[in-house]
Amino acid sequence: MKYLFGFILLTLMCCNACGQIKEKETMKYNELTPTEKQVIIDKGTEYPYSGELYKNTANGTYVCKQCNAPLYRSSDKFDSGCGWPSFDDAIEGAVISIPDADGIRTEIVCANCGGHLGHVFLNEGFTAKQTRHCVNSISMNFVPDGTPLKPTIKMNQKLKKAYFASGCFWGTEYYFMKLNGVTNTAVGYMGGHIENPTYEQVCTKKSGHLETVEVTYDPQKISYEDLVKFFFETHNFSQEDGQGPDIGPQYKSVIFYTDETEKKLAEKYIHILKEKGYQVATTLRPAEHFWKAEDYHQQYYQHKGTTPYCHIYKPIF
Ligand SMILES: [Zn+2]
Repeated sequence: MKYLFGFILLTLMCCNACGQIKEKETMKYNELTPTEKQVIIDKGTEYPYSGELYKNTANGTYVCKQCNAPLYRSSDKFDSGCGWPSFDDAIEGAVISIPDADGIRTEIVCANCGGHLGHVFLNEGFTAKQTRHCVNSISMNFVPDGTPLKPTIKMNQKLKKAYFASGCFWGTEYYFMKLNGVTNTAVGYMGGHIENPTYEQVCTKKSGHLETVEVTYDPQKISYEDLVKFFFETHNFSQEDGQGPDIGPQYKSVIFYTDETEKKLAEKYIHILKEKGYQVATTLRPAEHFWKAEDYHQQYYQHKGTTPYCHIYKPIF
């Protein structure tokens, strides 16, 4: 039923090199030139062997050009001969890896501002860590040891997370990731009784987990209430035994609330739906640990370029 396609699983090994950097709250990142924007914002690639930092061997820290966040230490830099600065490790928590839109490579971005850095490759034999962060020189600034680092520019975002289960998580995520105000989505498992379950374990219907989508959103742009309405408008919440052709406890309709306010809002809309004459099979449960699913399940339809078989959007409210 579900077609799997592989991504290289990435393990980011990290070092701890930037202890006492102060963080500053402001609303503006460093201004970028058009050439810098092409790489950092539009995810382009600079010409190989062209970057200022390609051959740099000085001791110091490589920081994000857009937000000043420290990304790499010079001690992790090596010459791979590929034409771009290469590192076999990043500063802990500084770099996030996501499946590239090309469906094959793994993109790396600054964890603070989301600026594009390059790609990460594994098991090429360059160093013992078997990892090559291939980074555009233009995405970074170099700060030599002894020169103080500038504060990391933090945007004033207070993002929140919401958890919805409405059948096959590929379909649920497909809709939520398109919503304005949703900054990130991930698919995973919630509500079961074993730790770190695999997809196969959840498929046995014995682990107790539901296929769940984690929706990260900016409450200044979209409300939890809007997410709840959208949840009901994108699946058949009357179905008791699963969703569409996907039958089983892991496909049931559940809102995992993280506090009483969310619970009350979810109850409010269940009430509204019942008043409108709908049968509502959706249950409300307190959120538990969200176990992120295997990489090949993330943003599945976007990578595959197809649309869900199990969910449609149907306006109600
Ligand atoms: Zn950044």
